Amino acid sequence: MRRFLVTIFCCMSLFACGQANAEPVRSLAKVTKLTNKQIVSLAAQGFDIAKRGVNFAEIVLDQAQIKDFVMKGHPVKVIIEDLDVYIKKAKASQTKNVAYFTYVTMEKQFKAWVEEYPEICVLESIGKSCEDRDIWALKISDNPKKNEPEPAALLMGAHHSREWPSVEVPMATAKKLLTEYAQNEEVKKLVDNREIWIVPMVNPDGVTYSMEKSKYWRKNRRNNGNGSYGVDPNRNYSYEWGNVGASSSPSSDTYHGTGPFSEPETLAIKKFAEREKFQASISFHTYSELILYPFGYGYNIPNPDSKIFVKMAGDMARFNKYTPQNSAELYPAMGDCDDFLYGDLKMLSFTFELCSTFIPPASQISEFNELNVPAALYLIDKAGTYGLVTPSGSDELINSLGFDGSIRAIVDNVDLFAGEGNIPMRNEVLKQLEKISQRAALLVCEDLRKGNSESWQRIKNTAQATLALSFIRNRVLFESAHEKNLYREDLVEEIKNS
Ligand SMILES: [Zn+2]
Repeated sequence: MRRFLVTIFCCMSLFACGQANAEPVRSLAKVTKLTNKQIVSLAAQGFDIAKRGVNFAEIVLDQAQIKDFVMKGHPVKVIIEDLDVYIKKAKASQTKNVAYFTYVTMEKQFKAWVEEYPEICVLESIGKSCEDRDIWALKISDNPKKNEPEPAALLMGAHHSREWPSVEVPMATAKKLLTEYAQNEEVKKLVDNREIWIVPMVNPDGVTYSMEKSKYWRKNRRNNGNGSYGVDPNRNYSYEWGNVGASSSPSSDTYHGTGPFSEPETLAIKKFAEREKFQASISFHTYSELILYPFGYGYNIPNPDSKIFVKMAGDMARFNKYTPQNSAELYPAMGDCDDFLYGDLKMLSFTFELCSTFIPPASQISEFNELNVPAALYLIDKAGTYGLVTPSGSDELINSLGFDGSIRAIVDNVDLFAGEGNIPMRNEVLKQLEKISQRAALLVCEDLRKGNSESWQRIKNTAQATLALSFIRNRVLFESAHEKNLYREDLVEEIKNS
């Protein structure tokens, strides 16, 4: 018996030694009996926290870390035993007809679309990854080769390699816009009046690595030296880049890199976003079924546009039934994409944590797409209403609005800000609303001078447009007093009495 036990012990030690040389098996585990302070501290130490609740967190852990939590009195329930096996299963769930986009199939799809819809899309490489892959961006708009002064929206996927669904939703949104342009009036309106950019794979090396090697992987594929690979792209942006919720250790899953924008992937997004001057964006991730908005680098950071963020997140949540919340409520993390895009570039930037697991079986792709594409279309639309009263809403954009666009911007913002008690925010919004109202008034007066009173009839019956109405009234009365026959007599009379 004793000899038997000794033999077993030897085998186990050998087995353990064999394992020590390989990469440790990593699991996804639910750790309970954690306080908020402990969860935040775990994030600060560089733990890869996928989801959290009031007193638990779902964390990527190796076996030693799991033991450590148990010893410290935190019960652990393993959700996914071996994350590499999980990735293999996700791969095996695909069929010929139902599969996640790879870098190669995404590229192929893009080229096919550009061929089929050349009048409404163009493809551009906005930079190269660490391993020299193109970071592709598809622009969808009327006159796509021209840079038109139209409100602009950006959809991004796959900052994180293992989050394959994050590629699907931007691709499905692109498909909807392109294939329905000819017959769907709502889609046509969006494409004609917005500049829409789709970057489904910000981190193509990481996605390819996770797919081809069946590897659970989060970061990019930067060679850090000493056998360590990868920088977390969503900790590598410059706005409040640092150590909260991010790690300075190269082997950590949340390694923030050697400095802000040390990675070609994040640098490409920075230059691209600065060039295009977007009004709104979504960066897709998995998982947790959340809609997050800035700031995320710390608790209770004032956000001057919080009223718009809360409104838009709440509206988008109606489509996918996700939970809208401030990003730091998950846990504070420095150097993420949204904080940079909003903090520095004033874009209305959101993060969606899709699904309830990293990679659902491929059979569920159409299901999560159907939940989320409408939310993406909403964001693209509102880039041209709420987006115009933020600092990213330039005079050039406002002065290029059509009548319909100006009325919609007025209605959305007056509805949202009516009765607003926050005076500084209100002044900023009022300033922009005044410009939009002047634009609407100008367009109505131009129509009236041509003897066309359709836009006048519409604005007259829009309860939110009182400011634009007063501009029209002043203008028409002033101009008609100086120049006869500029406006029809009966209309002048009607406007005078309005
Ligand atoms: Zn992620």
